[in-house]
Amino acid sequence: MDIKSLNLDELKQLMKDISQPSYRAGQIYDWMHNKLATDYDSMSNIPESLREILKKEYPYTVLTIDRMQESATDGTRKYLFALPDGNFVESVFMRYKHGNSVCISSQVGCRMGCKFCASTLGGLVRSLEPSEMVEQIYAITRDTGERVSNIVIMGIGEPLDNYDNLIRFYKLITDEKGLNISGRNITVSTCGIVPNIYKLADEHLSLTLAISLHATTDEKRRSIMPIANEYTIREVTDACKYYADTTGRRISIEYSLIGGVNDSVAEAEQLGVIASKMGAHINLIPVNPVKERGFVRGDRSAIEAFKNKLEKNANNVTIRREIGQDIDASCGQLRHKRMNSTDYD
Ligand code: SAH
Repeated sequence: MDIKSLNLDELKQLMKDISQPSYRAGQIYDWMHNKLATDYDSMSNIPESLREILKKEYPYTVLTIDRMQESATDGTRKYLFALPDGNFVESVFMRYKHGNSVCISSQVGCRMGCKFCASTLGGLVRSLEPSEMVEQIYAITRDTGERVSNIVIMGIGEPLDNYDNLIRFYKLITDEKGLNISGRNITVSTCGIVPNIYKLADEHLSLTLAISLHATTDEKRRSIMPIANEYTIREVTDACKYYADTTGRRISIEYSLIGGVNDSVAEAEQLGVIASKMGAHINLIPVNPVKERGFVRGDRSAIEAFKNKLEKNANNVTIRREIGQDIDASCGQLRHKRMNSTDYD
C-alpha cells in the first residue's frame, strides 16, 4: 500500500488495522504532508517499533532529483525526477510576481499522441500515483526552501486520463493539514476528454480548467490531435461551458501557434468566436519545436498579428511568457533526452 497516497481517514483505518492508536495517523500525516519528511526515521515522535513496522510493510514514496537545470536568465528551474521504479518525470519551478508556480507531470509518457508534443513520443508507460504527484511539489519545496502557491498540471501526461489519482492529488495538496494550497490556484490542462470534463465539473472543485484547442475546425484539429477523432470541437466546448456554469470558474483556452499550420488571421477570428461563446481567456503558446516533429514557430509578426486580431475582437488574450527557454523547460523534452541518452550531456 502506498501510504503517502492515503487521506487522513484511510490512514486512521490503517493504524486501527495494525493495532496502533488513532492519533498516530495525524502525526504521520503531518510528517508526510506538512513537514515533508523524506523517510520514516525523521519522524521523531513516532516510536521506533512503529517506524520499523512501517518501513517493512509500507514503502515511503520520495522522488530523487536526477537532474536540475536553472535558467541563467529568469531563475526558472527544471527538474528531472527519478521515481521509485526507475522511471522519470519532469517538473518546472517558476517565479512570478504573484508567487511561485510549479508545473507537474501526471503520467510517465502519454498516449494522446498530439503531433507537436515531445511527451507522447514513446507512448504511455504508466500513470502517476497521487503520492508521486504531491511529491513533485514537496521535493521542489525542500530543494528551494520556498513556498509554492500555484500549480499547473501541464507537464508530461494527460491528467484526465489519470482521473481518480488527479482527484486524490487535489484533496491532499489543498488539505489544510498539508500544504493547504488554494484550489483556485490550481490549473488542470486537458486535451479534451469530454466525459471526464463533465465528471470533473460535478466534483464542484475550485480548479481552473484549461482546454488545449490548437485548431478551430474539426478537420484541422484531427490532423494534429488524435483525440479530436473522438470528440468534436462542439462537444468539447459544450463540456467546457458546463464546467464554467457548474463551478463558476472561467475556462482557459490554450492555443499553440504552429507556423503555417494554425496561425492565420482567419483562424484568430474563428478562435475569438469560440472563446467568446465560452467566456474563455485565451493563452497563446508559440510552439516549441521538437526535433522529431518537424513543426516550426511562426515569426514574431505572425504571432503578434494573431494576438492583435483577438484583441480587436475584445477577446481576453495573453502570450505565454517564454521562460526557461535556455533549459528545455517544456513538455517532456528533458525526459526524452534522458531516455535517448546519446544526446544527454
Ligand atoms: N495533456 C495536457 C497537458 C499537456 S502540456 C493537455 O493536453 O492539455 C500543456 C500544453 O502544452 C498543452 O496545451 C499542449 O498541447 C501544449 N504543448 C505540448 N507540446 C507543445 C509544444 N512542443 N509547443 C507548444 N505547446 C505544446
